[in-house]
Amino acid sequence: MSDSFEGRGAIESRGTVTIAIERCKGCELCIPACKPDVLRMSEARNELGVPYPELLPGCTGCGACLLVCPDFCFEVYRYETPVLHDPDASQESTS
Ligand code: SF4
Ligand code: SF4
Repeated sequence: MSDSFEGRGAIESRGTVTIAIERCKGCELCIPACKPDVLRMSEARNELGVPYPELLPGCTGCGACLLVCPDFCFEVYRYETPVLHDPDASQESTS
């Protein structure tokens, strides 16, 4: 059986973000700002004692999170070639 997932609803990421979780104040402004809805707040807490955003597959590199975050937690990158994620795999994490 083929391991290819391109024909079974693979999730495409056209960009990605890095998140400076140690600076995050947990305001959650980035969550609704992300139109593809690929940011969610963590269960874990940072050193400030608040949850922080985590990235799921499907980022478009739009930069809305970077613009809305009052603490400059995001850096945004766009892929030259979109990255496909296996829809059956566990969710992507960020560093
Ligand atoms: S760059 Fe856009 S799509 Fe990616 S996490 Fe930020 S708001 Fe969401
Ligand atoms: S907008 Fe910035 S400070 Fe607020 S939760 Fe998102 S990353 Fe944290």
